[in-house]
Amino acid sequence: MYRDDGEGALSGRAVVVQPIDLDVMVSGKGGPPIRGLRAGIAPAAKSMLLRLGGYAAFRHLVPSRGVAILRYHAVCGAEGAAYCDPGICISPDSFEAHVRYLAANYAVLPLPEVVARLRASRPLPPNAVAITFDDGYVDNLAAARTLSRHGLTATFFITAGCVGGGEPFWLAELRTLLSAIREPAVHLSADGAPLTIELGTLEKSRKAVRALTTVIKAHPIAVRESLRDQLRQAARNPTTPRCILNWDELAEMQRLGMTIGAHTLTHPNLPKALVADAYREIKESRQCLEHELGVPVTLFAYPNGGAERYMTPAIAGMVRDAGYEGAATSRNAFAGSGSDLFALERIQVRERLEDLIFALEVERLVLKPTPRPGELD
Ligand SMILES: [Zn+2]
Repeated sequence: MYRDDGEGALSGRAVVVQPIDLDVMVSGKGGPPIRGLRAGIAPAAKSMLLRLGGYAAFRHLVPSRGVAILRYHAVCGAEGAAYCDPGICISPDSFEAHVRYLAANYAVLPLPEVVARLRASRPLPPNAVAITFDDGYVDNLAAARTLSRHGLTATFFITAGCVGGGEPFWLAELRTLLSAIREPAVHLSADGAPLTIELGTLEKSRKAVRALTTVIKAHPIAVRESLRDQLRQAARNPTTPRCILNWDELAEMQRLGMTIGAHTLTHPNLPKALVADAYREIKESRQCLEHELGVPVTLFAYPNGGAERYMTPAIAGMVRDAGYEGAATSRNAFAGSGSDLFALERIQVRERLEDLIFALEVERLVLKPTPRPGELD
């Protein structure tokens, strides 16, 4: 975690960046009980449980009463490393396996229907699942086609300001810019504090991406924009390849029955943004998507993964005021009748089908809905 309160943090010599647990940051891994559960069951045992129908038997005997709102990002091969962290990418083959299994074994509902049922206190079917995607990566169109082939739909939360050649998606642009800088280090200023980022090796570049991501998320939007300008200059203004869907692709996804939700305009850390900026990001992303796609946009997902510090009761209030009917967090748990509609829990997906189903059938015993967003820090 980036520190701003101690010796060495953002110092003139070199930024001191504590190792960031990317697993936790991007995979939404749960706390100690989940880690204990995962560590306690060998991968081979999970595969065996899946093959022998152990999960299916358990699902039948002890059906889930909550809903697992799955949280995907990218569905891609190695090419995805150019625009997203490999930790949030599921391979197309695994995704196909997920979808086939989910279609055959779960009650997969559109998220708007889940929200409508929760709002009206109507029961969910046993073993309910809803599928969501964050960010709007260009590979999501192929994922939508896969879902459609298996008769399923999903909700795609789109970074609206980055659609159709808008703003480059900053998390992807960071990768382009850092890989284009040829010097062994780049000297930046973050909110007036000098910041030196070392480059030159693959490992240093990876660390640089993580470090800058953390610094950007810890500051208001203006600091992100300033850092972006400095990096563009240092990298001699390379073009960031398009990584977010365009309007035609989104329209095709709608024709396939997919739901489009909003994920802000530019993917800021909302609690760190100025209040006016946060509200604009929340409200105008909805207006923009509705204007371009011609359908109501009723659902929102808070940007930034893993920790719960990316939404607060004040931000949830803005989402409600902007006219949304529900909002999804990155809190790793099942949602259900006790959930706040503006703080819906989600399950972070994992590459292997057996790990995903382990989460749905075993971790659900501890991943209970949490009633109020007021507990979030
Ligand atoms: Zn996101």
